[in-house]
Amino acid sequence: MTVAAPAAADAAASANTVFEPRLVAFVCKWCTYAGADLAGTSRMLYPPNVRVIKLPCTGRIDIAFIIRAFSQGADGVIVSGCHPGDCHYSAGNFRARRRWTLFRDLLDILGFDLRRFQCAWISAAEGTKWAATIRDFTEEMRALGPYTAMRQLAGERGAPVAPRAAVWHGRPARREPEPSADPATRARSEALAGAIAAALTDKSIAAAVGWTLSPTLRRPRPLWITAPEEADRLGLPGDSDGNLARLLKHPQLTVRPLGMVVRHAEMQALNVLRQESQVAEQDVVLFAVARDGRFLGRLDWDAAVAALAADAEGRVNGFSPEVEAEVSRVLALPSAERWDYWRTQFARCIKCYACRNSCPMCGCEVCLADKNQPQWFPTAADGPGNFAWHVIRAFHLAGRCVGCGACQAACPAGVAVNLLGAALARSAAGHFGHHAGASHQDLPLQAAFRTDDRESFIK
Ligand code: SF4
Ligand code: SF4
Repeated sequence: MTVAAPAAADAAASANTVFEPRLVAFVCKWCTYAGADLAGTSRMLYPPNVRVIKLPCTGRIDIAFIIRAFSQGADGVIVSGCHPGDCHYSAGNFRARRRWTLFRDLLDILGFDLRRFQCAWISAAEGTKWAATIRDFTEEMRALGPYTAMRQLAGERGAPVAPRAAVWHGRPARREPEPSADPATRARSEALAGAIAAALTDKSIAAAVGWTLSPTLRRPRPLWITAPEEADRLGLPGDSDGNLARLLKHPQLTVRPLGMVVRHAEMQALNVLRQESQVAEQDVVLFAVARDGRFLGRLDWDAAVAALAADAEGRVNGFSPEVEAEVSRVLALPSAERWDYWRTQFARCIKCYACRNSCPMCGCEVCLADKNQPQWFPTAADGPGNFAWHVIRAFHLAGRCVGCGACQAACPAGVAVNLLGAALARSAAGHFGHHAGASHQDLPLQAAFRTDDRESFIK
């Protein structure tokens, strides 16, 4: 998709030196596109600044389209479709409405000028509303002038714009190995290993995944075992050592039922995967370990959720107090400073995708970042490429990110990867009362809707 101003707008601009904004409208073909057509056939006048892109439904308007429009020079983007209740596919616009709410919040978090992204319900009979909406939008964008923030990103080629030491990165401190001579620690490890060995012996699990202490990394790392005699290599997990639930999506680790050492973070992730039918209860046998290292036993699903609930204390939406404090600080900044903050963070990204690969929620068979037919966003580790990567990833995780911090711990560049997730988790909780991974019975945030979801921002 290439965004170009209609020729008439360009001609007017060069003749009058009046700023003519480039606008893009993503519209549903059943209502708004027909409304725009009606405006045309009825010879209603409106500025020629808008390039209309027709899609089957508002539910099909991917935020990657919007980001791409802005990064290719749009000064404003409007999305529009059928009024609630009128969707040709029953509920596409209800789902779109939730996503627009979250996407607007994400833009606001980033320090983006929200006036440049507008939403409207325009039916096939509302040619007059279409013409008036585009007139108003064009006037507003003329008054605002060109949108330069996204264009500045194009000049950034991935070089750090601030020294690493000057930027909060929140990488958890590396943990020294547990002293093996500590009798309490040894007893806990042995209890865990014994329970897993027994499950492998009676064949109630086909394999197990837990943690072992890596002597070279000096921190726990995942351990995959298939025989009872291997269980004595298992140790206790640390507080911030990745999330084993990601292994359930590993294409080569398909044996089931799988025994898994679960902490609170794994349990939340498993709840989300179960909500999304990506994992079934009978696929996983849970060996619960509390944050303080106590082995809580081999538990069924609900018992594990209840037993690990105490470990959520002090965390907000699953995120640590340190992450929450930094999010609060960033959100209190003026929008221009927020924009600079995220630019600084994103500029350090080298696009290694370690954050994605360590995340229990990033499990698409083919990630958008790896697709080149079509290429959804630039793959280079430059300004536009990094911006698109972080924003799209954060949006895909909205309502799903459980705050485990595995992404942040994995990032070699020290990017504060999970801060956007923490900020969006506040939106999900505030607008929809949604807490990712609180229960496997909740509906996935972006796949569900309520007919009375907020829409005060939609014209
Ligand atoms: S994005 Fe969220 S769920 Fe994924 S690794 Fe980071 S903190 Fe964990
Ligand atoms: S792990 Fe860090 S450097 Fe690698 S893609 Fe993610 S944010 Fe970028």
